Amino acid sequence: MGSLRSDREAQGAGRERPGATAGAGEGQLSIRAVGKIYDPDGAHVVALDECSLEIAPGGFVAVVGPSGCGKSTLLNVLAGFDHLTSGEVTLDGQPLAGIGRVPDPGPDRVVVFQNGALFPWFTVLDNVTYGPVRQRVLSRAEARERAMALLAGAGDLDRIADTYPGRLSSGMQRRVEILRALINNPKVLLLDEPFRAMDTVSKSTMHQHLLDIYDRFRKTIFFITHDLDEAILLADKVVVMTTRPGTIKMTIEVDLPRPRRRDMATSNTFLELKRQAIAAVHGEARKAFERGERELA
Ligand code: ADP
Repeated sequence: MGSLRSDREAQGAGRERPGATAGAGEGQLSIRAVGKIYDPDGAHVVALDECSLEIAPGGFVAVVGPSGCGKSTLLNVLAGFDHLTSGEVTLDGQPLAGIGRVPDPGPDRVVVFQNGALFPWFTVLDNVTYGPVRQRVLSRAEARERAMALLAGAGDLDRIADTYPGRLSSGMQRRVEILRALINNPKVLLLDEPFRAMDTVSKSTMHQHLLDIYDRFRKTIFFITHDLDEAILLADKVVVMTTRPGTIKMTIEVDLPRPRRRDMATSNTFLELKRQAIAAVHGEARKAFERGERELA
């Protein structure tokens, strides 16, 4: 396992600047002509069809599209939770998913879900150290040192190291979860609507935390959302999927500078990008609606 940038923080090197990351150049995802058919009891649901997408190392992609268009299906294939029916996915040139390939989750691709997945009976520190200790990648002492550096580097979260998740707000829980993912030094973070259930203020705070983490670690991020403002504020590319069978309808390049700030959401550039995204997503949502599927986009 390569070293996390927080190693340097632990040694007093302070906060690192965007771009110069451990693992820089890693995390290139190539999704090529991916298809996925669910066929429980002969239902033959074509969830994804000829879905192709290139994500650069350290790229931040937000995926939007009508409910049921296959966003989670694609994430599950990337995570190694499910197999695909056609096409292939590579990570840094290595096969990740392909026809006949058994799904293979790994610490190089970590998922953070909307509803969270912290162990309620473990403290924050034990939650963050759980993965590398369990996988015997780090000794308990090494994992604790690394976890404390990560927690301290993320806005003084070391103060909650001994707290149980049940005593934390959902925003705090989500922050801990992202750090729990980062301790594995993954190449890719897969985020499935992590802030969906939050109120506007909490969501905005979480955006700032995630942007800070992205600027510091520059991990490749695949982020599913229904929130177009969130997608544009966070990502380099907003990928709009078609209604089912899901494929890529268009990719909107977000040329807002980094570090991103909340007030960019009122700039003309942002509003123009949002106009494009609304037109694309709502066109697809209408098709889904007319087909009798739920319209949530
Ligand atoms: P999204 O995340 O965009 O809302 P999903 O990837 O969850 O969409 O679902 C895509 C389509 O595949 C939907 O029509 C959904 O009903 C169907 N689907 C998802 N999972 C399964 C499954 N395990 N079995 C059968 N159909 C499924």
